[in-house]
Amino acid sequence: MRFTRPIIIVVLLIALAFFSLQRLAGDGTETVRRSRLLMGTVVEIEASGKDAERLDRTVTEAFNEMERIEGLMSPRRPDSDVARLSLSPAGTEVSPETAEVIDLGLDVSAASDGAFDMTLGRLKDLWGIETESPRVPSPTEIREALAGCGRQALRLEGTRVIKTDPKVAVDLGGIAKGYAIDRAIAVLRQGGVEIASVNAGGDIRLLGDKGRPWRIGIRHPRDPDGLTATLILGETAVVTSGDYERFFEADGVRYHHLFDPRTGTPASLSRSATVVAKTAVQADALSTAAFVLGPEAGLKLLEDTPEVEGLIVGADGAAVLTTGLKGRVEWP
Ligand code: ADP
Ligand code: MG
Repeated sequence: MRFTRPIIIVVLLIALAFFSLQRLAGDGTETVRRSRLLMGTVVEIEASGKDAERLDRTVTEAFNEMERIEGLMSPRRPDSDVARLSLSPAGTEVSPETAEVIDLGLDVSAASDGAFDMTLGRLKDLWGIETESPRVPSPTEIREALAGCGRQALRLEGTRVIKTDPKVAVDLGGIAKGYAIDRAIAVLRQGGVEIASVNAGGDIRLLGDKGRPWRIGIRHPRDPDGLTATLILGETAVVTSGDYERFFEADGVRYHHLFDPRTGTPASLSRSATVVAKTAVQADALSTAAFVLGPEAGLKLLEDTPEVEGLIVGADGAAVLTTGLKGRVEWP
């Protein structure tokens, strides 16, 4: 799994580069489709408009903006807000962007009763799921990695983030990608683009439409070539968290990257959670939260959040969906 990933990504990039050469002529509308490796995944931007040169320039600016956000929020960049936060004993000043993301994340933490938790950086490092050497830690190690964590361990005063425990390592992995997608859409819009999609490894935001609704396929959690459902959507964001995205197997057990903060182990109630919302940042955090909470409590969270819809595939493979999504879903 881990070793085949880079190959798959390279093949995808070659295929996407080929497709990006294709220009849809006809009524003078051009479509530019390009991709870049960002935030650990292939990001594809498709934008349509009249002026191909301007489109191309704007798409480049959108990618650059996503790269800037990655620079603020990646734990691996030593000078990022997140890296500085984790090293500081009591917290530190961060950029307005990072403060905004943490603010939105804290709302989702509160609404999900702590299922969404941005303080699990040490736990994430302990499991190393996304590294070359993942392993199942001992209960003692897990207890130590959870000590001092939880949604109460982070507070925001303006653009100052306060940590109640010096050991807390901040992790925005469940929300930063959504924010970067929103920033890309904002840049495209400012550049005059009216129809576009930004797709970061299946986390998508749509701008405008081509005179008909968008049809977005939701990947089947156990069949890489199959679909769980197709969603019929307008200008919106659609984000999925799944146990098939990043995982390793040991003794026949699947250990994935979405942790239940109560146990410090991968959450076991869901296979995937898809959220439709106005912004990708909200959809991203809520999809992680709904995944952890599972089909019952997760669906309630989505129903209780205004202007949000979603679909959760439980551990048994059965899908549940919010009332507002009924009539906008096609099953395979
Ligand atoms: P991706 O699309 O990258 O797979 P997700 O939105 O599904 O992202 O979030 C996965 C990431 O969220 C993990 O890699 C980790 O960084 C972080 N994470 C894991 N568990 C939680 C949790 N309970 N609350 C908040 N973030 C989490
Ligand atoms: Mg998420």
